[in-house]
Amino acid sequence: MSEPLDIRSCDRQELIAYMKSLGQPAFRARQLFRQAQKLSAPDFSSMSDLPLSLRQRLQEEARLTTPAVVTERISESGDTAKLLLEFADGERVEMALMLYRREQARDRATCCVSCQSGCAMGCRFCATGMFDRFRNLTAGEIVSQVQLADALARRLGFDGVSNLVYMGMGEPLANFENVRKSILLLNDEDGLNVGARRITVSTCGLVPRIYEMADWGLQVGLAVSLHAADNEKRRALMPGASRWTAEELIEACDHYRARTGRRVTCEYALIKGVNDSREDANKLAALLTGKGILVNIILANALPERGIEASGEETCAAFCRVLEKAGVEVQIRESRGRDIEAACGQLRKRQEEQAGPKAD
Ligand code: SF4
Repeated sequence: MSEPLDIRSCDRQELIAYMKSLGQPAFRARQLFRQAQKLSAPDFSSMSDLPLSLRQRLQEEARLTTPAVVTERISESGDTAKLLLEFADGERVEMALMLYRREQARDRATCCVSCQSGCAMGCRFCATGMFDRFRNLTAGEIVSQVQLADALARRLGFDGVSNLVYMGMGEPLANFENVRKSILLLNDEDGLNVGARRITVSTCGLVPRIYEMADWGLQVGLAVSLHAADNEKRRALMPGASRWTAEELIEACDHYRARTGRRVTCEYALIKGVNDSREDANKLAALLTGKGILVNIILANALPERGIEASGEETCAAFCRVLEKAGVEVQIRESRGRDIEAACGQLRKRQEEQAGPKAD
């Protein structure tokens, strides 16, 4: 038997075709799209603008991805939330929400979504890379995370989700089509209508996919995880990205910027004794000078099982000075929500450790 159609994963054209197959007029597709995308209807019975007979038919042969909230944590400061979500097959992902009150500009509510449950890239410093099971999320499963974040932001006094980053669990460019489709759904004016310029996709550096992404025709931001300019060091830290050199990655970033007009940011997690020396900073400066790339320095999240420790603040300041002196723009990204294990993969990992091994 074929899988029921997930309406939350469908774009307008797919819904038009589906409604046509049921003998329904095309305008029903738009109603259904709005219900699934903008109003985040939890089930078909609540779609009161659709005729009862259609709702019953949908109930029988389609579905609406709606994950269960396993855990909701809000930081003491109230500016960061982390949700652990479970989909129908038992796969769990994390979603984070960061809230910013701003005096001179519109408040910001940034949702950090997961695109895979787990990740095959195996970055040494990342808790998500330690799970032994994973799968790609569908477009609807990605959208449903943002819908929950939007409702939570409103509950916390914000005007819904304003920004979106694909920086949660998983490598977005390894789930290329579903990520692309989710962006189109979230960007749709009949959906949550998040502007493309407010969406950032973060990759560990799958170079050919960056060239393909440049052809999307969307002004989506790109962030690349570099974490070492030295290729040998980078290979050890990020085995999943080791097929391409740092130079090839920066060339792809150049292309992305030229094609989309969007500046690229480069993420660099400072790990004590691993990638935080003056020599590391000099190599990074040599790689990025004149490239117009903004470097985001993050203090690595501790991962004792892998011997990963954050660099000290003085080391961090000295590292940044080297980059600044070379004319490379750099900022230290504030780390939020340590009290709620907001870093990627931490919450799920902790809960799985407490629950013991999971049966397949
Ligand atoms: S850092 Fe990103 S790409 Fe690397 S293992 Fe973690 S989730 Fe995957």
